[in-house]
Amino acid sequence: MKKFLMLCTLTAASLTGLQAQQTQVIAHRGFWDTAGSAQNSIAALEKAAEAKVYGSEFDVQLTKDNVVVVNHDSSINGYIIADTPYSKLKTLKLKSGENLPSLEAYLDKGKTLPDIQLILEIKPHKTKEQEDIIAQKVVEMVKQRGMEKQVEYISFSLYVCEQLVKLTPGSQIAYLEGDLSPEEVKAKGMTGIDYAYKVFRKHPEWVKQAHDLGLSTNVWTVNGEKKLKKMIDLKVDYITTNQPLLATELINGQK
Ligand code: MG
Repeated sequence: MKKFLMLCTLTAASLTGLQAQQTQVIAHRGFWDTAGSAQNSIAALEKAAEAKVYGSEFDVQLTKDNVVVVNHDSSINGYIIADTPYSKLKTLKLKSGENLPSLEAYLDKGKTLPDIQLILEIKPHKTKEQEDIIAQKVVEMVKQRGMEKQVEYISFSLYVCEQLVKLTPGSQIAYLEGDLSPEEVKAKGMTGIDYAYKVFRKHPEWVKQAHDLGLSTNVWTVNGEKKLKKMIDLKVDYITTNQPLLATELINGQK
């Protein structure tokens, strides 16, 4: 009888394990829509960690002298990042009063916040040579710090994703563009689809297809209660949002 009870308990535990995991939240460009923060700043990373969300997303690109910096737009305060040396860019201020962060500084801070995943987006660059350089540099920096499990990669550039698959097999690598089916993404060796809200609205069946293939599903950039609820109901694994607190409340059924 005792053995039978134990077996029942084990079976129940295994079944629970098979259930789909709850949707988790990724703060888009960090948690920036709050006092003292700015998009893609180190403060936004710290605030995302304080909000206890799954991940903090951020964008990286190369300066003229091939330093990897964290910024979304291709220019900042009138300076085109690809045409400006790092020595100039590092003096520029974000809205939070911080200086434009280098990827090294961002990773160093991330390493002190091990409970949050760093969702690292490599922006498309003008040439394949530049995309080769940034992919290699980024992977090397992550490996140097032993952060392979904490950093997940995303890119709109299929070429960048393909290089990442070769450079860092075993890492989480998701494609952003939305023009490939889950089967095609799987065939390229990537681990997830990270597609726009409108793509999942057009192809809701891709969520289950991706899961059946062992791919993760992430949707961007979802704001507002109605849209967030639609994506929670669709059972995507991750929602990338500018409203991490609202998304968390909705997932937990507090709102
Ligand atoms: Mg981004």
